[in-house]
This record gives sequence, structure tokens and C-alpha cells, in this order.
Amino acid sequence: MATIQTINGPRDTADLGPTLSHEHLCSGFGGMSLAHIFDIDEAVRRALDALQQAYDAGIRTVIDCTPLDNGRQGRVFDRVKDKTPMNVVAAVGVYKAIPIAYARWTPDAYAEYFLHDIEIGIEETGIKAGIIKIAWDVEYQIEPLRGLLETAARGAARAAKLGGVPITCHTRPADYHGNRLIEIFEEEGLDLAATTIGHTNDSTDPEYYLGLARKGANVGLDRFTAARGEEEMERRSQVALDLVQAGFAEQVSLGHDAAGYSLSGGPPEGGPRVENPAVWRLVPEWEVPWLKQRGVTDDQIDAMLTRSVRRTFEAAAAMKQ
Ligand SMILES: [Zn+2]
Repeated sequence: MATIQTINGPRDTADLGPTLSHEHLCSGFGGMSLAHIFDIDEAVRRALDALQQAYDAGIRTVIDCTPLDNGRQGRVFDRVKDKTPMNVVAAVGVYKAIPIAYARWTPDAYAEYFLHDIEIGIEETGIKAGIIKIAWDVEYQIEPLRGLLETAARGAARAAKLGGVPITCHTRPADYHGNRLIEIFEEEGLDLAATTIGHTNDSTDPEYYLGLARKGANVGLDRFTAARGEEEMERRSQVALDLVQAGFAEQVSLGHDAAGYSLSGGPPEGGPRVENPAVWRLVPEWEVPWLKQRGVTDDQIDAMLTRSVRRTFEAAAAMKQ
């Protein structure tokens, strides 16, 4: 057991229950709370509705993977925290392209920056971040940005060890980012059990996703929406089935990478994404039954929904001691 920080206060890892490993209560872009198109009352209402629907579907914890530059809203957490039965873990980190303000920072400067939100709290709310999020995407293909993303990953590793919190990574599996991230984390002396290589069900390469599990990382199969149709939902569920059948249920976590309210990926006419309060129900109500129909046991489902994420927090806490 270990203690983790949630927006609702400290919790024991034994009490997390079924967990969605990568979601967003409210996302968009850094500074969006100052834009006239952002409506905090709407963001709070939508987050609460979506959290309640997920809770009704059996989920007890949501990991919010929204760093400041991805539109994290401490005020939304503050207004949600006493009104939801759900545990919500907030993140600190950096999202995709590194803001120019950080361009010359050393890994230790990143670590110190991340540690503030872990130890003191985010955005003057007193709510402590419980996880570090980093994000590698197409920017990694561009040489000057690649170096910045690698430096941020090293900083995240150092902060994870000092703060005793896990790292969750947005990756682009088509570029096999997980392999390089694991190399960096190993060079930094991080226990890979405290890391989640996320968005891995974007991958269509079994050698890649089985390889991540063999190396000891937690594999985040945390992209799941109905938007691309039933065939794609089956393909994504097959990634989970492959990992379970290879013996890695304890190292798989599930989620949607979906938002209660978001100002990114909105409709062509502008404004926030179309509301969908059922946005966090597909994993418990579609993917889990699909897996069970193919022989996955209740205990293996429990491993993926409850024990895998718990283990990343416990491995991270153990590094600090
Ligand atoms: Zn995400």
C-alpha cells in the first residue's frame, strides 16, 4: 500500500478500485481560462455528469492526464472535488511541443518545476499533482524539438524519483516512442513499473506492444472512443486480448483518452467538443464484455482495471523511500 494524492485529498492505493488510466476532465490549451470561449460553469457541469456516469458504470478512479499547457484547470478540480464520488488524480507535466519558455532548461530544472505541483500544489488550489504526464508526438520527428522532449522526459524521471509519483506518457506508437522512453527511464535509474507507456492501442504491431510489457513497463491501452466505428473498437480490444493471453494482464491499463469538456478537437464552427456524458463508459460497458466473451477472466479484468495502475503508484512511492 501507498498514499497517493487525488483532488479529493490523500488516498490509499488499496482504495482506488477500477481505474481509467488516461482521461481529461477539461482540456484544450494553456491559458484558455482567459479566453471568452471558455465557460467554467459548463466545464464543471459536464465533468460532474461524465464522472457520475462512469461511476454508475463501476469506475472509482479517473487519472486526469492534463498538464497546464494542455488546458488543465485547477479551478475545475476545486469545484468538482466535493461534488463527485469519484477519485480524480491530477497531473503535472508538459504536453507535446515544449513551450519556448522551457527551451533551455536542464532536466533538473524540469524536475524542480514538476515537484512544485507534486509537493505544494497546482494553481494555488492546494490540490497536489499525483502523476507526471509527458507527451511525445509528431514533434519528436523534428530534430530541435526531439532534444527538448528527451530533456523533459529525463526531468520527469528525476521528479518521479524525488516525488514518489509515477509517469504516464502520451506516445505516437507509429514512431515506437515507448522504446526510446524506456531507454531514457532506465538511464535515469527509474523503476519501469512506475511508468505507463500510453496510447499503445494505437499500435498495430504486436512485437512492439508485447515488447514494452516484457521490458517491465505498464502498457496504457488508453485510447478508446466510438468515433472510428465498431471494427476499430474490436481491433483495439484485440491489443488487450493479445497482452492478456501473453500473460501481461497485470501490466495493462485501460482508458479512453476522452474529455468531459474540451476546447481542442471541437466542431468546425468553433467552441467546445459536442457534449457526451457517456464518454467514459465504453471501456466498462463495451471493451470489458468483449474481452470476457473471449475468455478473459474477472481476475484478469481486475488486474487491468484495478491492480495495474495501483502498482505504478506503489512502485513510484517505493522509489522515494
Ligand atoms: Zn490524453
